Amino acid sequence: MTTSRRPVLRTGPVLMYHSVSPSTGPDPHLLRVSPDRLDQQLRTLRRLGLRGVSLAELVDAHDRGRSGRLVGLTFDDGYTDFLEHAVPVLARHGMTATVYMVAGELSGANEWDEGPRWPLMSADQLRAVAAAGHEVGSHTMTHPRLAGLDPATLEFELRRSREVLEEVLDAPVRGFCYPYGSFDRAAADAAQGVGYDHACVVKDYSVSDRFTLPRFYVGQADDALRLTAKLAYHHLRRRPRRRDGVTA
Ligand SMILES: [Zn+2]
Repeated sequence: MTTSRRPVLRTGPVLMYHSVSPSTGPDPHLLRVSPDRLDQQLRTLRRLGLRGVSLAELVDAHDRGRSGRLVGLTFDDGYTDFLEHAVPVLARHGMTATVYMVAGELSGANEWDEGPRWPLMSADQLRAVAAAGHEVGSHTMTHPRLAGLDPATLEFELRRSREVLEEVLDAPVRGFCYPYGSFDRAAADAAQGVGYDHACVVKDYSVSDRFTLPRFYVGQADDALRLTAKLAYHHLRRRPRRRDGVTA
């Protein structure tokens, strides 16, 4: 992984989810949590004195020096079950989240995955998500791995997805999320270059700047104890090291 020229940005923990559904159908990539499990996980956050917010709110709070008790909640791909099953649970706990939508698959499905097809939100459903107080960010047009992609395709995936979502929402789209967490310096520079405010990866703490914010996976197996351990591990990983230089 290349080292970024951007300053290190150390937000609080950012949780990564995908599907939220009571379904017991096949889930080979362990992308699904049940609404009950999500409810328990958000209760755990509250017990720890933490509040879940969208990544844009977390970054803004960090910029103002006030992100101490906030945790980012992110849901990748834009599955329709977010609206049906996650939004009511989030509302119960007074929390918000970010949905990263694959903009070329409005009303489509997760065609990029091997395994079961799950429906993705329509333009109307995305507008309902935004109206409920959640952030909609971009997850490219077609969900490719961005590391090593040719510059023209990279630019298209980043810029066009933002345009599509801004048209749907009639509002600025500030956040971006790398499919599979796959990024390199060119991808992070392009995300900044086409006008996003910030972007997030998966697990990777090696760069950890505004366009490579680390997140960690949360799944059905994460009970209160495991979630608490993952939160603690995040704080361990994000401890300032001397080579980081200026922190922002
Ligand atoms: Zn994805």
